[in-house]
Amino acid sequence: MKTCNNCLLDENYPQISFNENNICSLCESKKIYKPFGEEKLLDILQWAKNKNAEYDALVPLSGGKDSTYILHLAVNIYKLRMMAMTYDNGLFSQFAKDNIERAIQITGVKHFNNH
Ligand SMILES: [Zn+2]
Repeated sequence: MKTCNNCLLDENYPQISFNENNICSLCESKKIYKPFGEEKLLDILQWAKNKNAEYDALVPLSGGKDSTYILHLAVNIYKLRMMAMTYDNGLFSQFAKDNIERAIQITGVKHFNNH
């Protein structure tokens, strides 16, 4: 059975084809991800700041490391006026709730949640 030398999809995949180097048509057509970079981010943040609203941005806060880190970056590094928001679906662990509480306390941002 023919398989792609890059991704290991085989010839049973619908509408797949292979080139002479056994690279599949999906691998050949994929676009290379090119990040916009921090300069573009800074432009967007400045645009938000220029609006001069009560808040520059909203962070959906789950208590996990990703959203907590974003909140840290927004407040401490990019100096944004932030609001955090949590939608508690009833499945949050006490650990996550404690993290949220701590993050709100440390950053001092306004926090909106559904409880
Ligand atoms: Zn492939």
